[in-house]
Amino acid sequence: MNIFEQAQGQHINSYYAASANGATDFPALSEHIEAEVCVVGGGYAGMSAAIELAEQGHSVVLLEAVKMGWAASGRNGGQIIGGWNAGYDDLANSFGRDTATLFAEMSEEGKQIIYQRAEKYGIEADIKKGYVTAAMYKPHLADVQHYAEELEQWGYPHKVTVLSQQDMQQHVASDRYIGGLFDEGSGHFHPLNYALGEAKAAASLGVRIFEHSPVIKVDAGDEPKLYTEQGSVKAKQVILAGNCYLGKTAPKLQKKIMPASTFIIATEPLGAERAKQLLPTDAAVCDLRHILDYFRLSADGRLLFGGKTIYRGVDPKNIAKVMRKDMLKVFPQLADVKIDYAWGGHIDLSVNRMPYVGEYEANVYFAQGFSGHGVVPAHIAGRVLAEKVMGRTERYDAWQQIKHYSFPGGTLLRKPGFLLGSSFFYLQDIWASLR
Ligand SMILES: Cc1cc2nc3c(=O)[nH]c(=O)nc-3n(C[C@H](O)[C@H](O)[C@H](O)COP(=O)(O)OP(=O)(O)OC[C@H]3O[C@@H](n4cnc5c(N)ncnc54)[C@H](O)[C@@H]3O)c2cc1C
Repeated sequence: MNIFEQAQGQHINSYYAASANGATDFPALSEHIEAEVCVVGGGYAGMSAAIELAEQGHSVVLLEAVKMGWAASGRNGGQIIGGWNAGYDDLANSFGRDTATLFAEMSEEGKQIIYQRAEKYGIEADIKKGYVTAAMYKPHLADVQHYAEELEQWGYPHKVTVLSQQDMQQHVASDRYIGGLFDEGSGHFHPLNYALGEAKAAASLGVRIFEHSPVIKVDAGDEPKLYTEQGSVKAKQVILAGNCYLGKTAPKLQKKIMPASTFIIATEPLGAERAKQLLPTDAAVCDLRHILDYFRLSADGRLLFGGKTIYRGVDPKNIAKVMRKDMLKVFPQLADVKIDYAWGGHIDLSVNRMPYVGEYEANVYFAQGFSGHGVVPAHIAGRVLAEKVMGRTERYDAWQQIKHYSFPGGTLLRKPGFLLGSSFFYLQDIWASLR
């Protein structure tokens, strides 16, 4: 049974699925149809592209293997984070100031897509502003300072405040952190409700959405054609936005990413007072290690605590137990609190950790490689691909400067190779803790 069949047409059991605003109910594709653009994947990247195209009057078909928002977009940490896994100074050194400026602008625009689309289409997804980057070890303090200066230098339009160890207590009731950065422009949301809202927005614009419709073959060329078990779509252009799941449907893309797992638990509701004591500013929090913790409160006052990115190859058998142990390292005061939900998902790591946007074959474009930081980047990547399809290529072309490499050893050896890499990251965290 492949991963789509295992899903049995359902979202995974998570806090998000349990608190979803209704459900989508789009049919499976069972005929042969045509559209200007066919999008594969009902996550943020695919939906963002579809919405942009439909807003400009293009006819769009979107094929989703399971349910809209079934994968990363419906189960992530909900952290709306700007920036990229590469810093702007590094981008400027490698590709010049103009490209770095463009990426700084695109990061902010990606965030604004989320906020503005919610307003425009009435998407209810508990959007909150406020984001804390937490320093655990001494080298992180220099990272925080550098990041704050970089944001200012590259024209970040929101207030950011460097936090001392004492200041951190105003945001996070934990002794674990020695400093941090508070960013008033980033924030958090209910990721599945946002995805469901985008799906409804796309449908309202005329996008023909099909769920339970895995694409099994893509023929590129002048008139690309995509096939599912029971139907096909003939299009002028195609956008592949399938994250780690395209597999043999697009084998050349598979080599460029390495799926890794990350996990989240949701506590029982803490009660308004206890929740406020824990995270007084209701900000999302993420630490600065390579193998990091990320957490925030849900709208009903649960702690949603994520992390444990599996750089180890084998997923934990008891996610709740393993994640609870990590949560108690940050918040020992939650020892009496029950865990109501535990789940995980896959992130698509690229070798250089930058998102990969490009042309797969003639008239078939793609976005992947969000590397665990894709809520904002997937939204802007979708818009940039839509621009490319509509013949506006400036931002797409800028993205092409970033070179992407295959994982050494191909798909077969990605795991052992990656394990070596992960041990390296693990050791880097240990090293930072000792300095
Ligand atoms: C547990 C977890 C926590 C995370 N936390 C954060 C966070 O807090 N902040 C952040 O910025 N990022 C986070 N991320 C990453 C972020 O969620 C992703 O980068 C982003 O959602 C990727 O969007 P996407 O559209 O590329 O992929 P996805 O949301 O994975 O969507 C891809 C879709 O394509 C469909 N598909 C694949 N193949 C086919 C096919 N052959 N035919 C039809 N459909 C197909 C899949 O079913 C899926 O629905 C997290 C990820 C995970 C898993």
